[in-house]
Amino acid sequence: MNIDGRTRLIGLLGDPVEHTMSPVIHNTLSELLGINDVYVPFHTREQGLEQAVKGAYELNILGLNATVPHKNHIMEYLCDIDDGGKAIGAVNTLVRTSGGYKGYNTDMLGLLREVKSYGIVLEGQDVIILGAGGAAKAVAYMCMREKVSHVYIFNRTKSKAEDIANYMNKRFESDTISAGELSDYRKLEQKKYIVFQSTSIGLHPNDDAAVIADEDFYKLVATGIDLVYNPFETSFMKRCREAGAKAYNGLKMLLYQGIIAYELWNNISVDESVADVVYQKLLKTIRNNIVLTGFMGCGKSTVGAALAEKYGYKLVDTDQVIEEKAGIAISEIFRTRGEDYFRNLETNVLAELNATLSNTVISTGGGLPLREENQKTLKSLGYVVYLNVEPEEVMCRLSGDTTRPLLQGDNPEKKIRELMVYRSPIYEQGADVSISVTGKPVSDIVEEVMNGRFKA
Ligand code: NAP
Repeated sequence: MNIDGRTRLIGLLGDPVEHTMSPVIHNTLSELLGINDVYVPFHTREQGLEQAVKGAYELNILGLNATVPHKNHIMEYLCDIDDGGKAIGAVNTLVRTSGGYKGYNTDMLGLLREVKSYGIVLEGQDVIILGAGGAAKAVAYMCMREKVSHVYIFNRTKSKAEDIANYMNKRFESDTISAGELSDYRKLEQKKYIVFQSTSIGLHPNDDAAVIADEDFYKLVATGIDLVYNPFETSFMKRCREAGAKAYNGLKMLLYQGIIAYELWNNISVDESVADVVYQKLLKTIRNNIVLTGFMGCGKSTVGAALAEKYGYKLVDTDQVIEEKAGIAISEIFRTRGEDYFRNLETNVLAELNATLSNTVISTGGGLPLREENQKTLKSLGYVVYLNVEPEEVMCRLSGDTTRPLLQGDNPEKKIRELMVYRSPIYEQGADVSISVTGKPVSDIVEEVMNGRFKA
C-alpha cells in the first residue's frame, strides 16, 4: 500500500467495528486493481453520527459503509437514497455525489448476486424466510423485486413478521407475503421451498443451534441459504444437506455487498476472477482453520491434538476420515487398490471437508499436498503450516512402524531421504509458514503456530 497525495479514503461507520471483514475486501480490491484507495474502520457512536457524515464529506472521503447500529438513522443525513434502501429502510453504503452522500443497500444486492451465482432463479418460486429483523426485510424486498410466487415469513415474534409482510404487500400492491410464527411451517403445503435463514441463531460459538430443530421442516427445503457464515457450515445448512437439500452460507453475500459498494465508489465493474481472489482471502480469514502438513512422523497428529485442546479447535485427521469412509486401514487400501486409488480418495475427502470445516485443526496425510489441486484446497481451508522435520528424527520416530506403506522394503532410511528431498520443496511452496520441529517440545511448536496464525 503506497499512500501519497492522491490516495482516497473509504471507511466504515459502526459501533463496534473491531471485528469487521470489510477492510480485507476493499483493501484487497485496491491492491488487485491498482486503485489508490484505502479502507479504514471508524468507530462512530450514535450521538456523533451526523457530524461524522458531514465531516467525512468535508474531508473528501470517497465513500462509506454503515453497519450496526447506524444502517437506519444514517439515512437522515444523506442527500439521496436508492430504491432498495428506501424500501428496506436501511442503507449500508454511502456514495459521494456533488450534493452529499447517496445511500444504497448493497446487502440486498449482494445476496441477489450470491443467489444468482448458484444458478438459482427466484422468479415464480415459493420462498420461506426465517426471521424478521433487518436482514429478513432485505430478503423480503429482494423476493418481491425478483417476482417470487409466494413468501412465508416465520419469526419468533410474529408481529414483526406481520409488519414486514404488511409493509411489502402494500408497497408492491400485492398479497405475496404471509406472516406466521416459527411453528407455522407445519401448516404449509408439503412441497419444496427456497429457504432463507435470516435469524442470528447458529452464529459461532453457538455452532450447533438451529432456529428450527424439527427434521420435518427440512423435508420442505429445496435450497437453504443461511445468511450466517461463521461457522462455515451452520447447523441449519447441515440439517438441509442431511435432508437432501442444497445449502449455502452468507459469505458470498458479504463478499458481493462489498464488491458492489466498491464498484459504486470507483465507478468500475469488478471481474469475477478478481472477486474470486477476494473470496479466497475471506475464506482463509473467516474460517479460522489451521492446516498441518509435513512428512510422516513430523508430529502433525500430536501437534494437532495439542493445538485443538489448548485453543478450543475441533480436530480432523484426513487419514482417519479416509479410513472411516473406506472401512479399512490405509495400508490395506494401498495393498489392495494401489496408491493412485488412495490419492483419488484423498482428493475427494479433502473437497468434502472443504465444504464444511471451520474453527478446526486439520492434520493431513503426508502425501496430500503433492497434488496441485489439493494444495489449492488446503490454502482455501485456512492457515497452512508445514512442520519441517529432519530425516534423522523421522527415522528415530518411525523405526519399527510397519503401518507406513511407502516405507516397506529393505532400506527405509534411503526411502525416507529420497522422499524428503522430493517432497520438502512442495510442502514449502504450499504453506503459509514453515516451522522447524526437530528437537522442539510440542508445547513450543503449538505456540509458534499460534503466534504465526495471529500475525497472518
Ligand atoms: P436482527 O435485526 O437483530 O434480527 C435478528 C433475528 O433473529 C430476529 O428475527 C429475531 O427474532 C431472531 N432471533 C434472535 N434470537 C432468536 C432466538 N433465540 N430464537 C428465535 N429467533 C431469534 O439481525 P439482522 O440484522 O436481521 O441479522 C440477522 C442475521 O443475518 C445475523 O446473524 C447476521 O450476522 C446475518 N447477516 C449476514 C449478512 C451477510 O453479509 N452475510 C448481512 C446481514 C446480516 P425476534 O424478532 O423474535 O427477536
